[in-house]
Amino acid sequence: LFITLEGGDGSGKSTQAELLASWLRERGRTVVRTREPGGTEVGVEIREIVLHHRGDIAPRAEALLYAADRAHHIATFVRPALKRGEVVIQDRYLDSSVAYQGVGRVLDPAEIRELSLWAAEGLLPDLTILLDLDETVARTRLDNARTRYDRLEAEKAEFHARVRAAYLGLAADEPDRFLVLDASQPVDEIFAAIRRRIATLL
Ligand code: C5P
Repeated sequence: LFITLEGGDGSGKSTQAELLASWLRERGRTVVRTREPGGTEVGVEIREIVLHHRGDIAPRAEALLYAADRAHHIATFVRPALKRGEVVIQDRYLDSSVAYQGVGRVLDPAEIRELSLWAAEGLLPDLTILLDLDETVARTRLDNARTRYDRLEAEKAEFHARVRAAYLGLAADEPDRFLVLDASQPVDEIFAAIRRRIATLL
């Protein structure tokens, strides 16, 4: 079972991933949690480049770096785990690329999706949980937590609005794969909705 979480920074992906992992483990499943970019050693180095390189990276180069991270991660970590029958819970996957590199940075979203699927040899998640959050709420949460505030500050609100709209568009295109939840709800209500959906997949 391959489950991915999507949504902007501060939407609660890690919190829900952790709750879900514990819940599945209590039910006897072997669960691995991972993320992109940076789910492997090579990925950590690529993440360092894409997120912390001083200066601009050309949009296509950036898209290829994310794709390289993904290709290595899926081939060496995710597929083997799925083959062993484990549940893989992953923060961000190809929908992040389509939303951020494709729509946010004005490359062709269809091409970014193709590139991602090529990198991952066609692997799609069984379920993608989209934690949909209004940018102003996310900003307040991160500000309060004092984490990653600078980077979020530096990025434009308009960019986030486009990314959010892109995510919602992707979810509308594939309603069977996506579960869209309002991330401004209390944590346990969101988690209850996730459990209900996962129960149908187990
Ligand atoms: O969720 P995480 O902290 O790993 O993401 C870090 C940042 O990387 C995101 O806020 C987003 O700006 C960026 N990102 C991206 N394209 C991706 C994945 C992440 O631009 N495919």
